[in-house]
Amino acid sequence: MQWINAKVKKINIWNNNLFSLILRANVNNFIAGQFVRLTTLKSKNNIRRAYSYVNSPINKNLEFYIIRIDSGSLSNELYNLKKNDFVMITKESFGFFTIKEIPKCENLWMFSTGTAIGPYLSILQYKKGLEFFKNIILVHAVRFIKDLNYLILINNLKKKYNNKLKVILISSREKSNISISGRIPKLISNGIIEKKANIIIDKNSHVMICGNPEMIIETQELLKKDRNMKKNLRSSPGNITTENYWK
Ligand SMILES: Cc1cc2nc3c(=O)[nH]c(=O)nc-3n(C[C@H](O)[C@H](O)[C@H](O)COP(=O)(O)OP(=O)(O)OC[C@H]3O[C@@H](n4cnc5c(N)ncnc54)[C@H](O)[C@@H]3O)c2cc1C
Repeated sequence: MQWINAKVKKINIWNNNLFSLILRANVNNFIAGQFVRLTTLKSKNNIRRAYSYVNSPINKNLEFYIIRIDSGSLSNELYNLKKNDFVMITKESFGFFTIKEIPKCENLWMFSTGTAIGPYLSILQYKKGLEFFKNIILVHAVRFIKDLNYLILINNLKKKYNNKLKVILISSREKSNISISGRIPKLISNGIIEKKANIIIDKNSHVMICGNPEMIIETQELLKKDRNMKKNLRSSPGNITTENYWK
């Protein structure tokens, strides 16, 4: 694995826990939806962690949307970086959470929790490969409304895609007029998400799920049981593609 220097161009501190890191580095080309590994120069135990690109592959500002974990090792160090500091980044990108792995179908569902909206923002900003889908439904679940830090970009994307892109915001611990409340698996099983999108999750759909592993397991099990869906494998195409952010 080749590591190279990356310079901090900007750091957007959204609140006590959430921030976006914008780096410049001579990385190799990547595919929207992929991730790199980062470490800091002072990371004592050489801790390396995976972070998904938020930016489109054609944008030279390498953007990562990150949560600072209270007891977390690397995320705290990244949170405290300043403009013009250096970090290390892998020159290569990794992962198969990309559109070219998704079989063609009518409706593409993009489910995310927290910072796991990142890969979808990269995919949607890049746009290429999405022509085949009739509808794209981006579902972003957060705990509080203050955690919805990419609303401006999301609203711009909605305009760019016209009616093709539907956005459903979920806040699990707060009620608001821009979001529905609850958890993703429950909101699928009680039909609220589909009603809101006016689209059914059926065999004409592919469901991408990213973020919290518990949510991913529950959602996947539900889709397998109730909707007769199966995991998408290269050797055996299906309708569920997932990426866990931790174990
Ligand atoms: C493929 C992949 C892509 C990833 N992309 C991102 C990304 O774009 N943004 C991002 O913030 N994280 C992302 N992560 C998670 C990231 O790699 C680290 O696990 C995270 O930054 C915590 O590292 P740490 O050293 O600070 O904490 P650690 O000491 O390693 O603590 C890990 C614990 O933190 C919690 N945790 C980790 N990640 C998250 C998260 N995203 N949201 C809520 N709780 C979490 C879990 O409880 C986990 O057990 C990704 C992980 C993978 C596998």
